Amino acid sequence: MNNFDLHCHSTISDGLLEPRDLIRRAAANGVELLALTDHDHLGGLAEAREEADALGVSLVNGVEVSVSWGGLTIHVVGLGVDAANARLAQGLAGVRGGRDSRALQMADSLAASGIRGAYEGALRYVSNPALVSRSHFARWLVEKRYARDVANVFEHYLRRGKPGYVAHQWCSLEEAVEWIHGAGGVAVVAHPGRYRMSASERDRLFNAFKALGGDAIEVVAGGHDHAGVREFAHLARKYGFAASRGSDFHGPGESAVDVGRAAPLPPDIEPIWERLAA
Ligand code: AMP
Ligand code: MN
Ligand code: MN
Ligand code: MN
Repeated sequence: MNNFDLHCHSTISDGLLEPRDLIRRAAANGVELLALTDHDHLGGLAEAREEADALGVSLVNGVEVSVSWGGLTIHVVGLGVDAANARLAQGLAGVRGGRDSRALQMADSLAASGIRGAYEGALRYVSNPALVSRSHFARWLVEKRYARDVANVFEHYLRRGKPGYVAHQWCSLEEAVEWIHGAGGVAVVAHPGRYRMSASERDRLFNAFKALGGDAIEVVAGGHDHAGVREFAHLARKYGFAASRGSDFHGPGESAVDVGRAAPLPPDIEPIWERLAA
């Protein structure tokens, strides 16, 4: 396997491409094994599979679950899940159920700092009403020139401590791993380099994840630089996790790394795709 990309998004969550177009782009970029991992939602997989079958791309059913752990938001990717599994479907419905009221709170909070109409504005960028995310707010805020790009909006408006940030309770780490395993999948800590946590917090997270039977971490992720890849390869070996590789591609012009174009996995590490029945 030369090119596997096990983390990306479509319009079912906060990606810019329809599942079909995402698959076409992945195929054009030489991806052999792709996981579509929309936030808290499995709704894009059927369309993605149709196109993947037509183009000869192997598709892995995926999802990126929003988790609250130790006061932080952590993302856990499930790979190889049965999309018909009732418990997983119910769990995800619960996780995304709070998104709309959170979005209204975010808009209130932005209004309190003088930015009005953010909820309606964000909705213009939403394609799946069940999945309003901070990315949709970010796109509207860029349109309104509150910041020059999406990354900048997050820095000034949407991350913890900023005016549009609203604390939210997602599911527990335990629930996420249980739902994923219960649906026949493997559980992967997404982009571990992105969490603002100390080394000791990270150690606690990896130990907790290991104790729950967690399978892998993303060693190569869209947001990891060279040093990050080396560091997480080392940590994967240390904790006995397999390694995943994902671009976290959201759309052309927005994501730093295109689908299938993340760095290669370092050698001497078990790639998680070997455990996935494609
Ligand atoms: P939410 O699930 O609504 O909290 O939104 C999280 C999404 O916001 C992530 O999946 C990313 O797509 C996006 N995001 C978070 N932080 C950043 C950032 N610093 N720059 C760009 N996008 C970000
Ligand atoms: Mn996202
Ligand atoms: Mn994520
Ligand atoms: Mn993602």
